[in-house]
Amino acid sequence: MAGEIWVLVEQWRGRISDITYEVLALGREVAEALAGSLQAVVLGPGAGESIFSLGAADGALMVEHSALAEPVPEVYALALAQIIPQRQPQALLIPQTNVTMELGPLLAARLAVPFLNSCRDVQVTDGRPVARCILYGGKVEASVTPQSAPAVFGILPGVRPPEQGRVERAPAVRALSVDLPTEFPLRFRGYTELEAGDVDITRENVLVAVGRGIQRPENVALAEELAAALGGAVCGSRPVIDQRWLPPSRQVGTSGMIVKPQLYLALGISGAPEHAQGMKEAALIVAINTDPRAPIFDIAHYGVVGDLLEIVPAMTTRVKQGKQAA
Ligand SMILES: Cc1cc2nc3c(=O)[nH]c(=O)nc-3n(C[C@H](O)[C@H](O)[C@H](O)COP(=O)(O)OP(=O)(O)OC[C@H]3O[C@@H](n4cnc5c(N)ncnc54)[C@H](O)[C@@H]3O)c2cc1C
Repeated sequence: MAGEIWVLVEQWRGRISDITYEVLALGREVAEALAGSLQAVVLGPGAGESIFSLGAADGALMVEHSALAEPVPEVYALALAQIIPQRQPQALLIPQTNVTMELGPLLAARLAVPFLNSCRDVQVTDGRPVARCILYGGKVEASVTPQSAPAVFGILPGVRPPEQGRVERAPAVRALSVDLPTEFPLRFRGYTELEAGDVDITRENVLVAVGRGIQRPENVALAEELAAALGGAVCGSRPVIDQRWLPPSRQVGTSGMIVKPQLYLALGISGAPEHAQGMKEAALIVAINTDPRAPIFDIAHYGVVGDLLEIVPAMTTRVKQGKQAA
């Protein structure tokens, strides 16, 4: 329906993820600028149970179908491709996460509508939504105006504070039905759990990140000791994860996690765009690198040119001394 802005509600095992609220806050602004209504799109059986915090939206469009129990991109795309033509929203904003990453392109291709990926923001200019998108792994940023509606936008994490979009009120609900097959070429097999006792690096305030400059797996212990002294956790760049020096849940970057800690200590990390994309929104970035021309120094607030194997143990000692003195 003309004038509707849709936000897809991303649920993770029955719990609405924070990015949904971030995108709802953005959707609210876009809907108001277009004098339209904001609709939260909730997919899955038992979807009704999760709407009580979606009060930022004017309405909830509910599609309850057993095939939507897990977020399989093909199945979600098929369901959305059936309901979008019925109501013709102006825009569908999809929280862009590892779960939904493939959904936007599949859906847009199925409907032959514009798809704008990796959006950092959407503003309304001359009555049309204009997205600020990142390209080439973050090297280029572009303002893009879709030439037709509906358009699908993949919205990156961090677009607005989640508290702005979390409103404890159930919006008006409208049930929509879809006709989905029982068999799909792609099937959900199961979730891979974090390793027992592992941390969620997206929720840590202090991250000590190690890159290839850490040189040997036994040296990761130096970073772990510093992280423990600072009350944080260790994460890493992709080469460190590929070599299994840290588990996959600790990878920062475009093919890992997007993190926003208060402090990000980058040890022996060059600062490739694929890594920077995952951490450059950290409040304070401190980099240690032997190469003064390493790109990490372009985004770091403080930098030390030197050997991390000498500097990190000294830092740990100073942090511990500082804590004892306090
Ligand atoms: C599709 C795609 C997706 C990708 N996704 C990711 C991703 O999610 N996350 C990610 O991190 N990468 C990702 N990459 C890889 C990325 O391009 C880089 O190759 C990677 O980030 C480099 O990791 P690094 O900085 O640890 O290693 P390097 O680039 O090798 O840098 C090592 C750094 O350590 C410094 N150093 C060496 N010894 C010391 C020492 N003793 N003390 C201090 N400094 C030292 C060096 O000067 C150097 O700057 C991706 C690549 C592709 C193509």
